[in-house]
Amino acid sequence: MSGMDAVVDVSNVCWARDIEPRSSLPQLGRLRRLTDAWRGLYGAETRMELVVDQSLRHKIPAGERHEFDRMCQSGELVNVPYADPVVLSMAGERGLKVVSRDKFIDLRRRYGWIEGAAERFYDWRGESGGLRFVPSGIVPVSGQVVSQAEEKKELIRDGLRDHKDVLGFVWKCVSRCAVSQLWPERILLWPAVDRETGTPLCPDRNCRRPLVNAGARKPSRQIVIARRDNEREIVRFPLEAGDCVEVGRGALTHGINLDGLGDHHREAVAAVSRHHLLLALDDRLVLSARDVGSSHGTELRRWGGRGLGEPRRLAAGEEVRLNRPDQLVLAGAVVLRVSGRRYSPDVVYPDCGDGGGASTAFAEPNR
Ligand SMILES: [Zn+2]
Repeated sequence: MSGMDAVVDVSNVCWARDIEPRSSLPQLGRLRRLTDAWRGLYGAETRMELVVDQSLRHKIPAGERHEFDRMCQSGELVNVPYADPVVLSMAGERGLKVVSRDKFIDLRRRYGWIEGAAERFYDWRGESGGLRFVPSGIVPVSGQVVSQAEEKKELIRDGLRDHKDVLGFVWKCVSRCAVSQLWPERILLWPAVDRETGTPLCPDRNCRRPLVNAGARKPSRQIVIARRDNEREIVRFPLEAGDCVEVGRGALTHGINLDGLGDHHREAVAAVSRHHLLLALDDRLVLSARDVGSSHGTELRRWGGRGLGEPRRLAAGEEVRLNRPDQLVLAGAVVLRVSGRRYSPDVVYPDCGDGGGASTAFAEPNR
């Protein structure tokens, strides 16, 4: 084993237009040039693991597919549906260098070691006479940037990019379900989306009827409420510029009722007051919050450069403005923060019956 043993993100290399041959399409021939250059610099015995996305086969020139198949059969190419996590797992387990231009932002949470191992990630530069290798420039990014990248990947993977039109509007349900009674004019939660037709559906699990368009959605921020004990999300909902909503328990008009979001969270939210917190989003999308006289209080944790600061209990009626990474803790039990995500609808998978997913309408563990 050499210190320069590496795993190569093959699709990323094959798409690189600065490696010969010049063409806007991916070329398998670029991979050979890159591995030859690496071994030329770091020794012929250097091991290179080659991981490729299955989908690349259909994008390379037809004349290269035979070679592609041969390399897969011989085990030279590791052919998987989605290469990035395989590349990172191999690199993490075996201490390999990584050759890729990808910054792997969407996988930073899952592979927490990446940011502390920037020196292991290599990009390349085409020069007359060959390639040279340089650091790819992995730098730490905030949780919100990671969330946005994760969300983008998920929207692409789930075919939801095309459903952003659904997310650009507000919706109401005209059946007599719990959701329509709570929010007759405009549902404060994200709609569910029928995966096949793209139809927005009522987020009430017992309803799921098609929704009625209630106008364009104004610029919004997404709010996440999660349990403090196990970080499981209870709910996430969009707030529009100009919105003011109450967070508490029980039937709230124009509010978020933490009691109605699943039995498995009931104990965790029990100490939250019936009328607990008022949230307002102004026209510049700044979120402010005010404890409206809760029994067990609300604490503010400001984000400092290196993490969240010590909690400070808000006085009843005191209004605070939240910077994006700040958090509020309600009754010591529930954390409220602004998400890095803008979209996160529920997705209905038509073939899964009721999905068995008790909480799919509201909370998936993401940030
Ligand atoms: Zn409904």
